[in-house]
Amino acid sequence: MALVNEHFLKLPNNYLFSDIAKKVNSFKVVHPHASVISLGIGDVTQPLPQASIEAMHKAVDELASAATFRGYGPEHGYDFLIDAIIKNDYQPRGVQLTPSEVFISDGAKSDCGNIGDILRHDNSIGVTDPIYPVYIDSNVMCGRAGELVNGKWNNVTYIPCLRENNFVPQIPDRRIDIMYLCYPNNPTGLTLSKAELKKWVNYALKNDTLILYDAAYEAYIQDPEIPHSIYEIKGAKRCAIEFRSFSKTAGFTGVRCGYTVVPKELTADTLTGERISLNALWNRRQCTKFNGTSYITQRGAAAIYTPEGKQQVKDTIDYYMTNARMMKEGFEKVGISVYGGENAPYLWLKTPDGMTSWKFFEQMLYEAHVVGTPGVGFGPSGEGYIRLTAFGNRDNCKEAMQRIREWMI
Ligand code: PLP
Repeated sequence: MALVNEHFLKLPNNYLFSDIAKKVNSFKVVHPHASVISLGIGDVTQPLPQASIEAMHKAVDELASAATFRGYGPEHGYDFLIDAIIKNDYQPRGVQLTPSEVFISDGAKSDCGNIGDILRHDNSIGVTDPIYPVYIDSNVMCGRAGELVNGKWNNVTYIPCLRENNFVPQIPDRRIDIMYLCYPNNPTGLTLSKAELKKWVNYALKNDTLILYDAAYEAYIQDPEIPHSIYEIKGAKRCAIEFRSFSKTAGFTGVRCGYTVVPKELTADTLTGERISLNALWNRRQCTKFNGTSYITQRGAAAIYTPEGKQQVKDTIDYYMTNARMMKEGFEKVGISVYGGENAPYLWLKTPDGMTSWKFFEQMLYEAHVVGTPGVGFGPSGEGYIRLTAFGNRDNCKEAMQRIREWMI
């Protein structure tokens, strides 16, 4: 008899985005002629950079001839992409990496979830709250999150990020084995200064904590003082793994490509106190369970580091960040407190008059026909907030702001 992994049964069966879709569908049944604008789900709308398109076409043609055909590639990625990443994403920031520290994948979601394979099931977990739900749910699936008690998992330390503390997570007063940090943050759209990030690295080094640093939105950072990588902080290579994605940087949400950096000097304990290289374990895990990202995709990703690719990526990010600025100003004009949107494509709105996230979501849907994401879906500290994304097209963003203004005034 095959037995199921019962930890899966602990996951609440509602999924935030399907709940939203259900509510939007009910609205549409009653209001079939209303045009609904979605600023809810974090998917991009602008096409891939032209440089990537051309590189992928060329790669397809290579596969058409026996002389240039490629089958299985290296599990951890092709050198042409790894070298471009090291040279463009890290060296200019003073971070030196060797090729075997960079692992190309099909995206940051898989890596953030799969990394748990190389870590014991009974490590304690810490998250900033609110947060990208994958971190907690992937730990629930292997039993590491513990049990759900009053809306919180009892082996997870939640570090509240609220406007009362400027959304800056306080360093915990106890040890945590594995700490997830995501900056620029989804959903709050806020970043950590170098000084704040340094506090986390120092905490991790002192407590032998492993930091899992998700930098999926680093390309959106506009302020030159804000770190793009945790490795810009001294000592971070001894305590942190970093996840990156081409999804929001270059429109690869559907194409699928990302990468994870696991430094050679990063180690963790066995129960008997032997130090083990996490790079070696992750390499073993990937070589066993993953057969590499497609050649075509990796050629497309490498093309974003060409001069034309860099310009095209910049233009698209400028486009989304202009949306973010316009939306932020629009909300401020109607007196709504709004955060984020300056170094990230997300805006985090405080609902007025203590309204719940879901109540505000419904009112905005019914009165303005605009869809956001209720903040409470990202964790208990997200209650009383709504997340909006700047990934819409310009006309939709303008129209949404106009409707919200009319509804609020
Ligand atoms: N990390 C964060 C914080 C995200 O918000 C997302 C996607 O929304 C991901 C990772 C997933 O990225 P990818 O598309 O590379 O799997």
